[in-house]
Amino acid sequence: MPKSKLERGNVRVSTVSDEQYRSREASHSEHRTRYEAKAYSASSATSPLAGTTIPRRELTDQDVQIEILFCGICHSDLHYARDEWHDVMPTVYPCVPGHEIVGRVRNVGSAVTRFKAGDVVGVGCLVDSDGTCPNCEAGLEQFCPKQVLTYGSPDKHGTAPVTYGGYSDSIVVDQRFILRVPSNLDPAAAAPLLCAGITTYSPLRHWGVTKGKKVGIVGLGGLGHMGVKFARAFGAHVVVFTTSPSKKEDALRLGAHEVVLSRNIDEMKKHAGSFDFILDAVAAEHDINLYINLLARDGNITMVGAPEKPLPVAVFGLIFGRRSFSGSPIGGIPETQEMLDFCGEHNITADVEVIPIQKVNEAYERMVKSDVKYRFSIDMASLKSE
Ligand SMILES: [Zn+2]
Ligand SMILES: [Zn+2]
Repeated sequence: MPKSKLERGNVRVSTVSDEQYRSREASHSEHRTRYEAKAYSASSATSPLAGTTIPRRELTDQDVQIEILFCGICHSDLHYARDEWHDVMPTVYPCVPGHEIVGRVRNVGSAVTRFKAGDVVGVGCLVDSDGTCPNCEAGLEQFCPKQVLTYGSPDKHGTAPVTYGGYSDSIVVDQRFILRVPSNLDPAAAAPLLCAGITTYSPLRHWGVTKGKKVGIVGLGGLGHMGVKFARAFGAHVVVFTTSPSKKEDALRLGAHEVVLSRNIDEMKKHAGSFDFILDAVAAEHDINLYINLLARDGNITMVGAPEKPLPVAVFGLIFGRRSFSGSPIGGIPETQEMLDFCGEHNITADVEVIPIQKVNEAYERMVKSDVKYRFSIDMASLKSE
């Protein structure tokens, strides 16, 4: 890693100036406004995650304090911990990743009516928004210009320079951003629903995937395997595209009706012009035009994987067939709750490998190699021994 990158990574970026931060500290010195939570953090782009303590705020009227039971590992966690998204969102160290959180309510603020101690709840990628912009009014907080991410966003409460995520034994979140997790779902396997789940559920819903539609899922990883489960549960005919013949059996087990090896051009051609919708979950460079040509009239292909470099798109492929090419990020709070309720009704969770927090660095290395079926879920009870 170049030295300059490390230096940039250590710059403390916050809308709360140091002066404001200190004066808040002083004004609150008489009564305790924070407590210490156990966590795993990275102290630089090149250092492994390690045990630490972090400040969490004491409950305000609107807050819910959660004992974290499980936290899924999302690829974003690794990008953020290693400052790989420096240009868009430079990492502020120390950083505590984790936005696939399932836990139990420990305590609630005086104005909280919807949750009580003992409830099993979830927190996804967002912990706050302005609540007043047109996006928030439409329940689409994922598009709010003032959204606060679960980790790495300036902390308006001034508890720390930035928000700290779910690799921790507890978290305090505004009640508006707390989700109910159906009691029949295994909490370890439900955790990835909070990011991987909603990221795939939302575009499938938005583009009208229902019974009778033909749907393609490109890439069978953390996102793709959820896409298969949802598309199947919505009643669609599901086709998985993969580069690995070894994933064929698994794709069928997860609910695919057909599996196409995308490197086999003859096999691809058989499906030309036939898909209503394709969900592309591949973050590596790949030829998007191969898939655009598989869409039927008015078909859409939506990216949920985010390749680093721009993808060349042959516009003729869009014009002929009035096809569209789009992207989609997570989902709003109402839709995330709808997704969790749907999962409760249909018994849908992620396929997870549960690990103790002490194996998180190893898990990152394995995730880079796609060596996980299909999501790691950290058992936070393991943090107690730190
Ligand atoms: Zn994520
Ligand atoms: Zn808003």
